[in-house]
Amino acid sequence: MSSENGKKKFCSNCGKEIDPNAAICVNCGVAIEKPTKAKKTTITENNIPEEYRPITMWGYFGYQILFALPLVGLILILVFSFGGTKNKNLRNFARSYFCVYIIALIVVVIVAICAGLFAASATRSYYY
Ligand SMILES: [Zn+2]
Repeated sequence: MSSENGKKKFCSNCGKEIDPNAAICVNCGVAIEKPTKAKKTTITENNIPEEYRPITMWGYFGYQILFALPLVGLILILVFSFGGTKNKNLRNFARSYFCVYIIALIVVVIVAICAGLFAASATRSYYY
């Protein structure tokens, strides 16, 4: 036996066992697909499971606009981040947006505190 690596191959046309390296079936003469090509199942957007389905460019665009909405956006982000969708891409996108929301909130709070302190010290020194 040569390079068989334990796998037997059968003709897709007549079902007879054939040489794994053969290009044509010796029984019926039909062309045999190369094993490397046959193994690779072409993935299209239609046969990707719901979980891993990519979000289209317009999908991202739409979600981005939805998430940017003041209150509705935050609710949608929370829903999608914590199991509102089976899609991992959408969930990760929502979670990343959630992080941006938190950072933005922290920045706003810091800026507000700084502005408040600055205003307080400015008025104090002004009236002192
Ligand atoms: Zn055959």
